[in-house]
Amino acid sequence: MLRKIASYLTQPLDSVTRLLGRSSSAALPVPEIHSREHHDISRRDMSRAALNVLYGLNKGGFEAYLVGGCLRDILNGVTPKDFDVVTNATPEEVQKLFRRARVIGRRFKIVHVYFGQDVIEVATFRALSEPDEREESEHGMILRDNIYGTIEEDALRRDFTLNALYYNIDNFALYDFMGSLDDIRERRIRIIGDPERRYREDPVRMLRAARFAAKMQFELEPETEKPIHQLGLSLHQVPAPRMFDEVLKLFLTGHALASMKSLQQLGLLEILIPESGKHLHDTGIGPVWNNLIEQACINTDKRIAENRPVTPAFLFAVLLWPAVVARTEKHLEHGVPFAPARQKAAGQVIHSQNEITAIPKRFAQVIREIWDMQLRLDKRHGRHAEVLVADTRFRAGYDFLLLREQSGEIEPGLGDWWTRYQEEDEHGRMEMVRQLGKTAAPAKKKRRRRRKPAGAGSTGSQ
Ligand code: ATP
Ligand code: MG
Repeated sequence: MLRKIASYLTQPLDSVTRLLGRSSSAALPVPEIHSREHHDISRRDMSRAALNVLYGLNKGGFEAYLVGGCLRDILNGVTPKDFDVVTNATPEEVQKLFRRARVIGRRFKIVHVYFGQDVIEVATFRALSEPDEREESEHGMILRDNIYGTIEEDALRRDFTLNALYYNIDNFALYDFMGSLDDIRERRIRIIGDPERRYREDPVRMLRAARFAAKMQFELEPETEKPIHQLGLSLHQVPAPRMFDEVLKLFLTGHALASMKSLQQLGLLEILIPESGKHLHDTGIGPVWNNLIEQACINTDKRIAENRPVTPAFLFAVLLWPAVVARTEKHLEHGVPFAPARQKAAGQVIHSQNEITAIPKRFAQVIREIWDMQLRLDKRHGRHAEVLVADTRFRAGYDFLLLREQSGEIEPGLGDWWTRYQEEDEHGRMEMVRQLGKTAAPAKKKRRRRRKPAGAGSTGSQ
């Protein structure tokens, strides 16, 4: 589901340090080459599939390197989740070498090579192209760019130094063009080239910076960080499906809490969820919303650490909840009754968030069900509780309710009732509902009356 964007773009040559001067503007970096006995990357750290691809390319007469994130991860003691390969073979040449290989990509052509369950992404070295050789949007974002080049050029187009190491399968040596090893050693994230220009070319790099800082517990080097505080809004020009994928990588890969902090520090959280973001600093409710999101992040990280499933729907239900509550209030002020006000708010919030992060329909549906559950969980008399607890969305709705109580958004109590209800046997459950008959139903009526607009009249005396 997480679509891979193997798209690394150009940046100005003059700003790259450690460059070898050339006659024209094409100044290229010289690598520091660390032979096998001088680095810590071992073939044992690589998947069978990755090695097959590397050797296959090599046997076919091509250069083959492992590159980027996988090397960064191995050096940090993290098991890579995928292996990326670069080569001087064109996509068509790569395809001919492997039985199960497919050329994919609209923006950039790459090849997926399949071995059993594994997919290895193989890219061809990209050239540094001049702006007029490629398609750019009016904001300077690169749209299409399929010009092949050398490994040096390829290195210059990577995003951060920590992602620009190359491992050569031919001699097992590590090629460091950008001072990557020093940066990794010093736990530093440094963008390659002119920071502002590189973020303008591809604003997603700002999210990647936040993500690597969170994932690796690295610091952003000041020049790399500075422009992010001004350029955050350019993320709204990125295609919304890609943004959705990036949000999942930030929040559903085991470091959600650190991602939240890192995004906040860079001023990007409000840009990812503008409508909720507006209320994160409100006096009174602001800290509650921060608590809510923070607690959800903690729970998500815990679930992932325990190998339990997580869903984007729950994450977005939390991230968008402050906006739903605020919009509901607005509709209530205009005299709309509570349930339709909530429905209307929910639809509007999802609609406007879709402009930024396209939420696939199947998740949007679940998000709404989780929100609907918040009203339904209050209705427990008669057979309501029995029916609700068997609902497929009960668990998510209940977890969401607990979060709301925990964050201080609502008084605790209802969540605890449902916790006990689930622990009881049939008889105990009936007894719990019977007890409610005496107290809960009238209490609810009372609350409803308070929501009526002033002047609507109150007949009850309870
Ligand atoms: P992870 O796989 O953990 O998400 P990664 O760094 O491997 O992190 P990928 O999306 O797999 O990220 O990309 C592979 C490599 O491609 C990166 O390490 C980097 O060198 C390069 N790259 C990816 N996205 C960009 C980008 N937006 N701009 C420049 N280079 C990029
Ligand atoms: Mg990767």
